[in-house]
Amino acid sequence: MQTSPLVMLASFLFPLALAACQVPPDADGEAGVRPRPNILFIFTDDHASHAISAYGSRINTTPNLDRIAAEGMLFRNAFCTNSICGPSRAVILTGKHSHLNGFRTNGDKFDGSQQTVAKLLQQAGYQTAMIGKWHLKTEPTGFDFWRVLIGQGPYYNPIFKTPAGKEKIEGYTTDVITDVALEWLQKDRDPERPFLMMYQHKAPHRNWQPAPRHLNLYDDVEIPEPDTLFDDYQGRTTFAAETEMTLADHFFPFDAKFEAPKNLTESQRAAWDAAYDPKNEKFFAARDSMSKDEITRWRYQRYIKDYLRCIKAVDENVGRVLEYLEESGLADNTVVIYSSDQGFYLGDHGWYDKRWMYEESLRMPLIVRWPGQVEAGAVDEHLVQNLDYAETFLDLAQAEIPDDMQGRSFLPLMLGQDVPWRPSIYYRYFEYPQPHRVPPHYGVRTQRHKLIYYPLREEWELFDLVQDPDELRSVYSDPANADLVQELKNELNRLRELYQDVD
Ligand code: CA
Repeated sequence: MQTSPLVMLASFLFPLALAACQVPPDADGEAGVRPRPNILFIFTDDHASHAISAYGSRINTTPNLDRIAAEGMLFRNAFCTNSICGPSRAVILTGKHSHLNGFRTNGDKFDGSQQTVAKLLQQAGYQTAMIGKWHLKTEPTGFDFWRVLIGQGPYYNPIFKTPAGKEKIEGYTTDVITDVALEWLQKDRDPERPFLMMYQHKAPHRNWQPAPRHLNLYDDVEIPEPDTLFDDYQGRTTFAAETEMTLADHFFPFDAKFEAPKNLTESQRAAWDAAYDPKNEKFFAARDSMSKDEITRWRYQRYIKDYLRCIKAVDENVGRVLEYLEESGLADNTVVIYSSDQGFYLGDHGWYDKRWMYEESLRMPLIVRWPGQVEAGAVDEHLVQNLDYAETFLDLAQAEIPDDMQGRSFLPLMLGQDVPWRPSIYYRYFEYPQPHRVPPHYGVRTQRHKLIYYPLREEWELFDLVQDPDELRSVYSDPANADLVQELKNELNRLRELYQDVD
């Protein structure tokens, strides 16, 4: 949807007036006229889609996230462009790949003077709020209201940065971020204007500290192990075996909860110790007689249970927000989007963390609900990316999508329209060697294949995602694939030119 230059100019000069004329309260009645909806972007950190029951999780249930999917659309093939926290957020704000928005690694600082979707929505008459995890170092720009964690932020008793200074709020961070979000919705926002609220959790980021009420959740169950927990890393890049993010060798006392967080209140600490001390003592008593694989299995259980406990609190809090939307009458004209900055290894390939272009960390959850507009229970298989989020928000707001944004609005897909779509996506990861020794790489993924290049050793990988969904054996060197390799290299070159990533 393109807006005429005149409307653009008017939108810049008179955003409120234009918003009012574009959003008559009864606009949903007329054929071809969509209301400008509120956009509630619910975002988590490191939540892999294979830990969401709507995506078929074998290890947990997420009833509130599933509700968004049941009442809306689930995107099965949503992917990030660079599988790491800060860079994914920068891509979402700018609609540009990392090399153009300037935030390639978590060591970078976001240039807040550049064009962002938040600023463009402000110009289009939206009020904008950013609440929770920001992780881009510089202060948020383009938001009428912001209250953000400092850096990674803690799981307990967070200190928020606000335009008026710092503010500490006692409690479990996932609950507290939701409290702040609900307060803004209830009291602070202007009910006359549509809003974009970016409601962003720290959870379930490492080191996976559960809420007091979930410290003993899953104690009496064994969580199923992934098939690739004991991966031997053969048949792929030589870097795969060198990655320092294995449960077998890189899982530390801090990860295992042998150390309590240092910032707990007395009662939080008492609950923490009462939950972990007996479990830890049982492990310490058995440890000397356990094999290395048995210890890895124990670590997997400790890790995944804490990770899923953190997700439990996210799911509950999403439920609170959905409930509020119903009660307040906002639900009908609010697009609810659930996503996370990348995927994560849930013991897959023996790992935790992310970064690689392999499926588990490339894939993002993406679930959207818009009552009356998006068909309930729909599933979409197109290749979409976080690169497309800004464009989609602008499209929802009926605002112009700037030409220099590199993604594409997936609103037509949400509306079930049959539109031509991209045949492939481009990925590029930069951060090396620390913290986990995942090498720089870039590649292309189609619906069926994935080609990855590792420039430091000039190594290539090719996976057939139908025949080898776990990506355990690169078939790059198989002579039978010579034509396919050439086709994918051509496609990769096309994407590098298209996205201006030719260095
Ligand atoms: Ca992340």
